[in-house]
Amino acid sequence: MHVPFQWGSIALYCVRIAGDTVYTGIFKTAYFCYAVKETGTKGTLELMKYAVLDFETTGNQSSDEIIQAGLAIIDEDLKVSRVYSSYVKPGIPIPPFITGLTGISEDDVKDAPDLDEVMMEMVPLLDDAVLVGHNVAFDFNYLQSALDKTGYLPFTGRILDTMDFLKIFFPSLTTYQLGMVASEFGVEHDRPHQADSDALATALIFLKCLEELADLPLIVLQRLSDLFAGEDSDLGWFFDAMLQEKEREADQSPDGYTYYRQFALQVEDWMDIEPARNSMLGNPLRDVSFEQFMEQVREKLRAKLPDYEEREAQNLMLNEVTRAFDEDKHLLIEAGTGTGKSLGYLLPAIYHSVKNDEKVMVSTHTINLQEQLRERDVPLLTEVVPFPFSAAVFKGRQHYLCLRKFEHKINRRDFATPKEEVMTAAQMIVWLAHTETGDDEELNLGNRGGDFWETVASESDSCLGRSCPWFRKCYYHKAKHEAGVADVVITNHSKLFTDIQAGHQLLPGYERLVIDEAHHLEEVAGKHLGLQMKYFTVVHTLTRLFKDSKTGQFPNLRSMLQQSGSEKSAEWCSVIDGLYPTLVDVKENWDRLAELMFTLMPERSDAAPGDPGQFVLRLLPQKKPKAWDTLAALENQIFVAMGDVLRKGERMINELKEDDHDYGYESLITDISGLLKDLGTEREALRFFIKLEDENTVYWIEGNGNYRSRSLQIFAVPIDVSAQLKGYFFDKKKSVVMTSATLSVDKSFQYMIDQLGLTEAAAEDRLITSMLPSPFNYREQALLVIPRDFPSVKGSVGDDHFVATLVQSLADTAVVTKGRMMVLFTSYRMLRQVYDPLKELLAGQGITVIGQGMDSGSRTKLTRRFQGQHASVLLGTSSFWEGVDIPGEALTSLAIVRLPFQPPNHPLVEAKSERLQQQKKNPFMKLSVPQAVIRFKQGFGRLVRSSQDRGIVVVYDTRILESYYGKYFLYSLPGPKMEHMPLGQMIPRISEWLNAEEQ
Ligand code: SF4
Repeated sequence: MHVPFQWGSIALYCVRIAGDTVYTGIFKTAYFCYAVKETGTKGTLELMKYAVLDFETTGNQSSDEIIQAGLAIIDEDLKVSRVYSSYVKPGIPIPPFITGLTGISEDDVKDAPDLDEVMMEMVPLLDDAVLVGHNVAFDFNYLQSALDKTGYLPFTGRILDTMDFLKIFFPSLTTYQLGMVASEFGVEHDRPHQADSDALATALIFLKCLEELADLPLIVLQRLSDLFAGEDSDLGWFFDAMLQEKEREADQSPDGYTYYRQFALQVEDWMDIEPARNSMLGNPLRDVSFEQFMEQVREKLRAKLPDYEEREAQNLMLNEVTRAFDEDKHLLIEAGTGTGKSLGYLLPAIYHSVKNDEKVMVSTHTINLQEQLRERDVPLLTEVVPFPFSAAVFKGRQHYLCLRKFEHKINRRDFATPKEEVMTAAQMIVWLAHTETGDDEELNLGNRGGDFWETVASESDSCLGRSCPWFRKCYYHKAKHEAGVADVVITNHSKLFTDIQAGHQLLPGYERLVIDEAHHLEEVAGKHLGLQMKYFTVVHTLTRLFKDSKTGQFPNLRSMLQQSGSEKSAEWCSVIDGLYPTLVDVKENWDRLAELMFTLMPERSDAAPGDPGQFVLRLLPQKKPKAWDTLAALENQIFVAMGDVLRKGERMINELKEDDHDYGYESLITDISGLLKDLGTEREALRFFIKLEDENTVYWIEGNGNYRSRSLQIFAVPIDVSAQLKGYFFDKKKSVVMTSATLSVDKSFQYMIDQLGLTEAAAEDRLITSMLPSPFNYREQALLVIPRDFPSVKGSVGDDHFVATLVQSLADTAVVTKGRMMVLFTSYRMLRQVYDPLKELLAGQGITVIGQGMDSGSRTKLTRRFQGQHASVLLGTSSFWEGVDIPGEALTSLAIVRLPFQPPNHPLVEAKSERLQQQKKNPFMKLSVPQAVIRFKQGFGRLVRSSQDRGIVVVYDTRILESYYGKYFLYSLPGPKMEHMPLGQMIPRISEWLNAEEQ
């Protein structure tokens, strides 16, 4: 017999009866109520109790069962008062991977209480509590099912998720994984994936979020409360309650913030920022030589860093860069890991710019390096350079928030996907209270946040400039002003080329330039000097203009015009009404065109699913696909329709601008005007592409199988950018310093000289080349092994014998190195062939295998997982060859499966090869080998990241020994010990070498 429970404001007394037996003994624990939604129970948060829940289960399906329960209780005084923990005896076996993950075995649960008993203990603890969890939906579902199975009514109280809290209150966190967050916050979490430890860590993290929230000004809470007001969510209820509490506080607008237009900010008026040495009389370097300057710097470095030692390679670099600047020469300088190359060029740049009162530009390829210079090197230099200087970071405009657009968006609640965008807006409101730069790099917006960002990013076409109410606080204009008054400006390759295309309107003028990560310069130049357009480039412009009758800038304008009630506005409303069907036509034709293009592309045999270039097709003017006429007809319809929108739209915008009636929609007009310009650019780009006319351009399309036509990208890239690079940089600038760890091939810079357009500079003695000695002792730190009898393979797929031998050898090596191994593939197919059998072989050894494309997650996530697990093997393809930085013991061995030749059929490689053939040059030796050598060096560079690192590299490709070009690969490495041997001797030798390390 079951006695029904009653909820609400009156019935709180509950008796649980199982079968026909009344358990009188549980009366004491069976009186409970939840923090019922309908009544809201206790009105203020200070009286609130939180129950932080975590379950470990046999899996994540509805048929899976709970094996451990953890509940941390946070009492009204915001302290963890109790942690409840119990194993639960499941009715089904625990799968081995769950035991591997949680450490919970059948032994642990064999004598555990059953679910009935555990729920009997837990339910009273949930009494009147708000339920909290990390990714709470998972635990909540299991809770409801457990309550149901054991005869309780479902939980109907409030539910909060720490993931939401972290996103909002720590918007810059790069991960929300519980273990990572706990370690970032210094929170105790001694047994990850054990329910009580997870529940306690979640509770402590939740308290950190509450602390963060308590420190925020009232205005931020008001904004958050407003944002979630229409959401009918527990988060909205929570912010309301928090707001009520805050409103009772005395200090609602603490110091340390700028309050402007109902926002709390961290920016002052940028016009007040002055040059670094404004108050100094005279030039601090007037009679100071570079050597004297460096002596002063070194003295300060020694005082600041007790372990500071001069490095030979860095000293050489300092001198070479200074020489290039002084003699107006260009410099190609190869500086390996550990040289300290950032200081190697920043110090001469500071010296030169201050001494000569002339700005020096520094450019990096990755935002990561730009951030590293901002966060690590510049602060250090500020302390050790004996006079004030300024080094400003200046990124592409789209990286800065447009405060006007953001304000407009949230005031109008103009959200395309309300649930996600409200969350993103909440993150950004909190972030605004902390950011000094307004740079999107500081924000973890998640997968969907990127679309939101696009709608609020700064753009030249939609900027109101001085008439913007935010102008004096504007992040972009602040960064531009800072760059204008800085001694050294740190930008990126992308912005260098955008500046060139904008007629040098974006960056301050410069004569001396340092290009770091210079091996990417040619590729970035190709992208910028050519054309690259995605399916979504057009879709975003269209939907931002008009998504449906309520969403988009045209509908926004229409509703404002309607409200104004003027005669003319009726006319403009009808113009807008006439534009809608045309925009819908454009979108439909664009969808058809993208679909058709996608069907033309064959799949690349060596690509991973989801790789941007999984499907590729090169387009040749003389061999157009059969469907090209249909495509051209679609393009023509798009061209005509877009032209119609542009004509009518621009005319209306001009009339609106001229109209003296103040409708208060200036910012909307500016946004529409910017979007129409984008539409015009896209229209021209598509026309250029469809014509396939330029013989110096290679045309191709790409896509991936995950998103099919929606992943479509069209490319039109110059085959050879050397002449343009020469024209823009080497002929124009006095000195361009190019540095990277991989510029030379077989100890020669000729490949880079040819690719970058430096031949003339070299012939005229305007080019210095320099290869710095490595600061590491590679002979001691790295052993390169080549199994000389390893089977060979043709193409991107291994035969059974090759795969079986490879898997066994990788497994044997991984056992000797206790995991800590990265395997670099050139083909995703081969990675896939290896993944399962290797995983199986290593499972018994307790070594995990993580595979790109096989395990979910981005490169960063997979790398973090690899670093976080003691014994694991990471399998990666293309993007793993470069940019993965795993210092220390986490990486002991690196396996290179085949030499990294680019697929010869990639359109750009193919076109470059044809060009070389026309010039009677050997494309294999002039292009394929040097490219592969540079990639091989990049891959090799993953192993040794500090003077403490030591490790093994195994090259599974006998071409390195047998072919005539193999020596270029070996001679290009920085001097590791190299040995070749039969496969059978490899493992004992690796063991011996590693043991020698330990002794
Ligand atoms: S000045 Fe321009 S970019 Fe800055 S907030 Fe205003 S409109 Fe946006």
